[in-house]
Amino acid sequence: MARQGILIVVSGFSGAGKGTIMKELIQRYEQYALSVSVTTRGKRAGETEGKDYFFRTREEFEQMIEEGALIEYACYVNNYYGTPRAYVEEQLLKGRDVILEIEIQGARKIKKQFPHAVLLFVTAKDAQVLKERLAKRGTETPEVIRQRLQRAVEESEGIEEYDYLVVNDELDVCVEQIHSIIESEHQRIRYHMELVQSMREELRSFSKGD
Ligand code: 5GP
Repeated sequence: MARQGILIVVSGFSGAGKGTIMKELIQRYEQYALSVSVTTRGKRAGETEGKDYFFRTREEFEQMIEEGALIEYACYVNNYYGTPRAYVEEQLLKGRDVILEIEIQGARKIKKQFPHAVLLFVTAKDAQVLKERLAKRGTETPEVIRQRLQRAVEESEGIEEYDYLVVNDELDVCVEQIHSIIESEHQRIRYHMELVQSMREELRSFSKGD
């Protein structure tokens, strides 16, 4: 029987290295499908339409909200970000584990709609590292960096709502930790009820001497 796909939410402070971790994870293991979000923020140097994000205008984004084309969306530092519904549903049906790299408001909405989703929070080992990574990336203005750090303060208040914390100190260790969390998740009884039921039935019939 094909495995049922699991929905995985990965959040983390800006600068925690989520993007790099996710790329590595999908390269190493075929079971993962990374959802590409829609955003109204401008494209950063090196980003590709349809690979990093679907870059859309505010009007186009609002149209998608109206059509119900997004499973969740949120506003983050003055821009909209949202998860297209079709890809997620299609990949889960195929049995792939779908990763959503989204912020906390979106994570909460997903947990409501998909109570079995696994929520992971990725962080750097301390706040100083986060600040340095953000500055080094060089893609944001000092004002946007300040707003993103402000947002990190708010997000840090919500960490208890997540199921797991992963510290991104060494990329390799972090990727393997995430993979083993997901693999353990697949062993939950709820995903094996067919086996459990048939085992029960067979045991019952054996005990009757069949
Ligand atoms: P960035 O601009 O750095 O690419 O992303 C900013 C924040 O938006 C990150 O915390 C990222 O996880 C989050 N984000 C990206 N896509 C989505 C989405 O589809 N929905 C929500 N709620 N957040 C998203």
